[in-house]
Amino acid sequence: MKKKILLLGSTGSIGKATLEIIEHEKDSLEIFGLACKGSIDLLNEQIQKFKPKYICVYDKSQTDKINFDKTKIFTGIAGMKELVAMDYAIVVNALPGSIGLEPTIEALKCQKTIALANKESLVMAGRIIRKLLKGNPNQLIPVDSEHSALHQLLQAIPRKELKTMIITASGGPFRNHKKDDLKKIRPEEALNHPTWKMGQKITLDSATLMNKGLEVIEARWLFDVEPSRIKVLVHPESILHGIVELTDNSLMAYMACPDMKIPIAYALNASQRLPLPVNRVSFEEMATLSFFAPDMDKFPSLRLAYNALASGDSALIVLNTANEVVSEAFIQGKICFTDIPRIVEDALEHHTMQSEIEDIDTVLELHNWAIIYTANKLRNLLR
Ligand code: MG
Repeated sequence: MKKKILLLGSTGSIGKATLEIIEHEKDSLEIFGLACKGSIDLLNEQIQKFKPKYICVYDKSQTDKINFDKTKIFTGIAGMKELVAMDYAIVVNALPGSIGLEPTIEALKCQKTIALANKESLVMAGRIIRKLLKGNPNQLIPVDSEHSALHQLLQAIPRKELKTMIITASGGPFRNHKKDDLKKIRPEEALNHPTWKMGQKITLDSATLMNKGLEVIEARWLFDVEPSRIKVLVHPESILHGIVELTDNSLMAYMACPDMKIPIAYALNASQRLPLPVNRVSFEEMATLSFFAPDMDKFPSLRLAYNALASGDSALIVLNTANEVVSEAFIQGKICFTDIPRIVEDALEHHTMQSEIEDIDTVLELHNWAIIYTANKLRNLLR
């Protein structure tokens, strides 16, 4: 019997790569359901090709454009939660940003196995997710390339031998810019990533280094390590993805060409490695591999993420949500690149700190607070 896959976020870059893997392994994998935010033309193509039983679209107003006659079309976050509770083998959560949170929680509550590409779920509700995973850590397999790397490395070492874990960062397109020049960056420059082809939000987060900040938080909850033991290393070639430093000062690194199909296939095949149509790493053809410390003065978003981890759970939610709102304002050309961390920091300073958050309603309340606070801040700035 084929393994049934529910894919949330099917029209984004991870969603498309997931469908490539499903096509490549069509003898053992099949699509159960597809959900997306609102790219209906692509969704219609996917429906025709992969013949899902169920469909969900986040944006309700789009349903009449969908060519689907099997059953009713689910809509909104509520629809995704209904889909998640159904009977299938693995859910891939590749939704962009905070809309991925509630489907992740629902999947864990329903005891589903989840391949998680939506790092924002862990950033906003890491403590709650850890609690839901108690006793069954294999229920959640990370799809972020760095975290898949670390997950694989950690299988090979006794936990007491782990000293630090290192997440690599490409450094984004502005790594060599002078600090003063960052102000003038236009949205189209920030949305062009040097090594990875990804969606808008994560591409911009990579340019500000907020993506790495979110990944440090993701690693903290995923692997239950103290933030001080999670380091970031800029590595523009994106060949090393994760490194563990061991008690005897030796290192183990995970290397692969930057291709999301590798961590996706690993997650879909329950942590097994099968042959894949992806490029090989060739040391002979590679000119150099280079490494740098991240510049947190030039890219303060990474520093904000470490500070948020040190202050408490509420700061992680506000960091994530404020970043989503201001990033959107930057993409729309309303603010400049250096305003992004500045406004996020302001929201962090103005919220009421709570150190441990154990229920999802409090997470959503803080999320809504941060949307309103940041939107007001932007409105006052633009006046
Ligand atoms: Mg990543």
